[in-house]
Amino acid sequence: MILPGLSRPVGTIWCIGRNYAEHAKELGSEVPSSPIVFLKPASSLLLDGGVLRLPADSRRVDHEVELVVAAGLSLMMAVGVDFTARDLQEADKKKGLPWTSAKGRPGFAAVGNFTPLTLPSELELSVDGVVRQRGSTKDMIFSVEKLIEHLDRTYGLSEGDLIFTGTPAGVAPVAPGERVEASINGGESRLRLTVAA
Ligand code: MG
Repeated sequence: MILPGLSRPVGTIWCIGRNYAEHAKELGSEVPSSPIVFLKPASSLLLDGGVLRLPADSRRVDHEVELVVAAGLSLMMAVGVDFTARDLQEADKKKGLPWTSAKGRPGFAAVGNFTPLTLPSELELSVDGVVRQRGSTKDMIFSVEKLIEHLDRTYGLSEGDLIFTGTPAGVAPVAPGERVEASINGGESRLRLTVAA
C-alpha cells in the first residue's frame, strides 16, 4: 500500500512503547533505559476517513496519538493512532507474552497524510470534539534521531518503513459511535475516524 504523501509502499511498521515519562507513569510502568520496540502487521493500517471496528474479544480499546515518521532520504511525518486493546495487553504482560494480539488488529495502526518532518511538533487527539491528549515531541524520552539510529543499528531500517514513536499521557478508551480526530501542529497532518462495534 502507498500512503498519501509517500512515494514508496509501506515496509515494516515499527512501534515504540513508553517514550513519554508521563504516559509510563499513567500505566504504572517504569521509564525504559533503551527503546521498547514492537511491530504491527500491514493489515492493521487504517487511513483518514476510515472506520475502526472494535474487536469482539476486548472490553477496552485505548487511543494513543503518536508522531509517525516514514523512513527515507527525506523524512516524512504523519499523525497516527496506535490503538491498543488494553485489557489484552495487561493479560499478555502478566504472562510475558508478545503484544501482537493487543496491538495488531485491523485498524489499530491509523495514519493521516504525510508531510515533511518538522521538530518539535505538537500532537492532539479529541473524541467527539473533546480534547483527550495533547503533547509535544519535545517530551520524548528517545528523540526521533535516536530512535532511527537504534532501529537501523539493531534491526536495519528501510525506506518506506513507518515508526510510531510513542504516545504522550491521556490515553483512554473509545466506544462505538464516537468520532476520533487527531492532528499534528493544528492540521499539517490530520486523521478523522469513526468507531464502530
Ligand atoms: Mg503507543
